[in-house]
Amino acid sequence: MEFITGFNRDQLVMMDFESCVGLDSWARTVDMFVDILPMQELGFRDVLNSEGRPPYHSSDMLKLYLYGYKNKLRSSRQMEHACKVNLEVIWLLKGLRPSARKIAYFRKDNAAAFKLAFRHFVGLLKEWELIEGTTIAIDSFKIRAQNAQKNNFNQKKIDRHIAYIDDKIKEYQDQLDQGDGDVDTQEIESKVAYQKSKNEKYRNIEKRLQESGETQISLTDPDARSVILHRNIINVGYNVQAGCDAKHKLFVNNDTGSVNDTHALSPMALDAKELLGMESMDILTDKGYTTAKHLDICTKNGITPYSSPKDHSSHHNGRYPMVDFTYDKINDTYTCPADQVLTTNGSIYDKAGHKVKHYKNRKACEICPVRALCTTNKNGRFIERSIYQDALDENQKRVEAKPEYYRLRQQITEHQFGTLKRQWGFTHTLMRGKQNVLSEVNLMMICYNLTRLISILGPDVLKNRLKRLVPGFSALFEVILAAINNFFLFEIHSNISKHQENTTLTAL
Ligand code: SF4
Repeated sequence: MEFITGFNRDQLVMMDFESCVGLDSWARTVDMFVDILPMQELGFRDVLNSEGRPPYHSSDMLKLYLYGYKNKLRSSRQMEHACKVNLEVIWLLKGLRPSARKIAYFRKDNAAAFKLAFRHFVGLLKEWELIEGTTIAIDSFKIRAQNAQKNNFNQKKIDRHIAYIDDKIKEYQDQLDQGDGDVDTQEIESKVAYQKSKNEKYRNIEKRLQESGETQISLTDPDARSVILHRNIINVGYNVQAGCDAKHKLFVNNDTGSVNDTHALSPMALDAKELLGMESMDILTDKGYTTAKHLDICTKNGITPYSSPKDHSSHHNGRYPMVDFTYDKINDTYTCPADQVLTTNGSIYDKAGHKVKHYKNRKACEICPVRALCTTNKNGRFIERSIYQDALDENQKRVEAKPEYYRLRQQITEHQFGTLKRQWGFTHTLMRGKQNVLSEVNLMMICYNLTRLISILGPDVLKNRLKRLVPGFSALFEVILAAINNFFLFEIHSNISKHQENTTLTAL
């Protein structure tokens, strides 16, 4: 028996690149998909200058990106390398070899076009009735940013650094004051100067933080924020919002910006509704999105939210929970477990961005026999009620009435996140700035939807559908059809004429 051996490297072979790419290759799907996109309308710039080196066509560059993002080749250098060694990429780009710099600039310069390309694709999926738009689940996932943890600051962190520096300076000055002849004065003075320069650096960061009006600042990527990546692990990153349709679990829209989901519900829901052109729709979200104001905006715009209700903050403190207090909508009062009425002065207060009204009855609380079971506040119990509380209550009723429907949320969204992060390695972004990060998200989501499409329709059906959308294909198809019709009509007419001639001859 002998070992299995490879071919002879010195042997000449004749081959074509077409035969090197499998019929079910991802490269073929990407090739057909990009060919149907109206690149100019989407904003990809293809400008030919009268001088200089001719540019690459944007459709070739987009094909390269879509091939790369599905195959864990996201950096421009990896793609540049693939253009030289990967047979599928060589086939896809017809041998073009753009430099890493050109590849990188294409992604940087076309953030808006990537977004429109993804939305155009979603529109096509809606047209093909693969996206229904009646039930959308919204959820988020975190990715790490191009910003080290040490380059992200909040006021507390700056104070800590400054306090440490002040201590150090004091320590060095004490050494100078107490020191006798064997103290190296010059060395200590240089250490003090160094600490003072650090102090100045942190003061500048503090000034920038205060001017920004934000609670934290990132120095490398100003849009990145300190987010909880997983359980208690905090890192600087982005919280990516994603809307998914219930019918085939396809991505519908995306966004990023906020550290958490508190203010993401209505912007994402309204965007999905507008994009899909729906009159009404249901939205499923977890409790991170349950914010009274956003539930209210949704319901007023024909969107029915099913958002997991949050427990009231009083739920776990061992005192009377909120369910023991009855709200009287007509009189705008609460009745407490001791049958006392808590009233409001009508003022609306801002509590961490939420508009609330206060309800209290100080006199009744002062002499209440069950006060120990109700509150530890020296002014008696007071209740904060959101001015959009009705929307919260309605949402709670809906979720409790249809628990199975709400539970679909997990099935609709979470699987996709696993695919993007675990299988395709999208755990971190290579870009800086919100718009550029969204470029990566849009590329990933196009790849995901396209992959799902292959599973849903099958490669042949997808290929035929895409072929029909290639510009010029339908016109060509009509010309061929007309030619076939004409041919058959001509045949029929000539047969009729022949038949008539034969009949005339027979009669004669
Ligand atoms: S402490 Fe005040 S709010 Fe609480 S049960 Fe007594 S009267 Fe009612």
